[in-house]
Amino acid sequence: MPALSLEQVRNLCMRRGFVFPGSAAYGGLGSFWDYGPLGVEMLNNIKQAWWHDAVYERDDMEGVDAAILMSRKVWQHSGHEATFSDPLVDCKACKSRFRADHVPLPPIGDPLREEVRRHAASNGAGGEPAVWPTRWDGEELVVSDETGDRRFSEDDQRRVGLVHKLIPCPKCNEFDWTEPRNFNLMFQSHVGPVAAAAGTDEEKAARVYMRPETAQGIFMNFAHVQRSMARKVPFGIAQIGKAFRNEITPGNFIFRTREFEQMEIEFFIKPEQYVQEGEKTDEQWHQEWIDRRFHWWLKLATPPSAGNQEMEEIEQRFRKRAQTADELAHYAKATTDIEYLFPGSLGWGEIEGVANRTDFDLTAHSKDIPEDDLKRLKLEDNKDSNEKFDYFDPDAKKRYVPWVIEPSAGVTRAMLTFLCEAYDEEFVKEPSKQDIDQIKSDAAMIKNNAEKKIKQAEKDIAAGKEAKHDPVQVREFLDKLEDVVTRLPESLSEVLLTLDHPGAQNLEPVKKFRPPTEKFMDEISRTVLRLHPRLAPIKLAVFPLKKNNAGLVELAQKIQRTFQKRFRTIYDDSAGIGKLYRRQDEIGTPYCITVDFESLEDGTVTVRERDTMSQERVPVDTLHDYLLPRLELG
Ligand code: ATP
Repeated sequence: MPALSLEQVRNLCMRRGFVFPGSAAYGGLGSFWDYGPLGVEMLNNIKQAWWHDAVYERDDMEGVDAAILMSRKVWQHSGHEATFSDPLVDCKACKSRFRADHVPLPPIGDPLREEVRRHAASNGAGGEPAVWPTRWDGEELVVSDETGDRRFSEDDQRRVGLVHKLIPCPKCNEFDWTEPRNFNLMFQSHVGPVAAAAGTDEEKAARVYMRPETAQGIFMNFAHVQRSMARKVPFGIAQIGKAFRNEITPGNFIFRTREFEQMEIEFFIKPEQYVQEGEKTDEQWHQEWIDRRFHWWLKLATPPSAGNQEMEEIEQRFRKRAQTADELAHYAKATTDIEYLFPGSLGWGEIEGVANRTDFDLTAHSKDIPEDDLKRLKLEDNKDSNEKFDYFDPDAKKRYVPWVIEPSAGVTRAMLTFLCEAYDEEFVKEPSKQDIDQIKSDAAMIKNNAEKKIKQAEKDIAAGKEAKHDPVQVREFLDKLEDVVTRLPESLSEVLLTLDHPGAQNLEPVKKFRPPTEKFMDEISRTVLRLHPRLAPIKLAVFPLKKNNAGLVELAQKIQRTFQKRFRTIYDDSAGIGKLYRRQDEIGTPYCITVDFESLEDGTVTVRERDTMSQERVPVDTLHDYLLPRLELG
């Protein structure tokens, strides 16, 4: 089972050295994260697996590593300076900022949802009279005016900017929004010493942007790569590197950050009008890349131990979603997003976009483009460029600006995806009926106490006094607890998570109940990251059965030294074997080796596999052949 909440993954990441908050000693910096010892290994593994698949395993790909800072003209002609922006709204009441299309509606069942409905029906923003009679039909907002009924899905409601009239601020619940305005997401800096004020010619001449995508560095190098490597279209260029976006509402741990890494391909193909019989069309190339990339995600999300049913379940958490006409950029012929079903309120989220961008990008950076093409692509004549990014096709005997298929994925978002998918808490011991009854009776005690607190809080609120508890939150917590208790023992792994609910804070029985429950859970369950071995930060851990026996220690360290030449291998003797296994399970180490007294006699060691916990005796001198295929290092 994958993670049930981002919180579980985040806790594990911080506890075990995957991800740390950036600039922590100074209170952090808005949504910048540092990747720790295990995080950097995992990021490297993701990048290597991608590079392998995108470059090494194909005959038609090359790589580049372009500079992060490029001429400002790149971003002017690519369209980023004018249009790489998101709509921003401010809550006038509490000054919080949101991306207008990302303000969440209150969840169904939340009394605030009713409030939205009432607000929509009676008042516009700031107490103005209602603009239109409105009603809700299921999740759709129906607006009636003289032209009839107009229906808005939840997405529409955000998109058309109804946010500032109808959706309350998620922080303070007020309906007092500013009008949406565009906010450019590119970070600015300057090359050389600049003292001039912002907006002056001198300042603008020195201005650079931190790249918000790696793609433009590839377009800039199209001709260099094509000529230096004597490539014929179709061929592609891959690049991995940092990108920066001054996101309005970053968050959901490392899902949306202001500094992140991308893995991008620009695959250059013949324009549709030159494709001949028997050659792949742009649509076929597009589909081929969508399928290849989808397969990559699935392959690395699936540990070798997965059975058929598990594989099916994993597949259901990935999907291809074709962008609708109104989502598509004007020049894109089609874009399909690959999405993953993240836990909790995040839900389906884009992890990669695969776009058919036609000849827009190379044309935008080219001089001497015919008027018709400029018109078709809504571009201005480029008077700054001294290149024309066209190509003489020796087979077609034609000169053209190639079209491009762009698969664009996030490295850091991939790490979150694989961690969520790999996260599992499972029982290593069956809980007894007595254990389950104990939890049920503790839960009943909590319920009794919480009901009293709700009553008291409601009384206090009615009397205009400050309440110790938020009755709505406590009720929500109780509903969750009830749901978990009725599903016991199957829901055992959700018990502790439920106690983290905001409504459970400051309830005395919860405080009492937590430590013994934690101890009990620790005894009967383990946390295991079922990462694909290629992604696992540590591939192998070697332990001596006893740390005070020189012979065991020496052999264990010898094995570790042998394998650390090939991949990340660690030696550990700081706890008992059971505990050492648990520690490695939690960080996804696929194999552990234990050296015991038998090893000294017959030269065999115990190899333990992470997912099945199965153990096998393997001769030391065949370990190499045993481990390498199982680690699928390629
Ligand atoms: P969104 O609409 O969510 O802002 P986008 O469609 O602008 O994303 P792209 O420009 O297509 O994203 O970027 C390609 C990939 O880069 C995304 O699929 C994602 O994996 C990654 N990515 C984009 N923005 C971020 C970010 N702020 N933090 C982490 N990864 C990101």
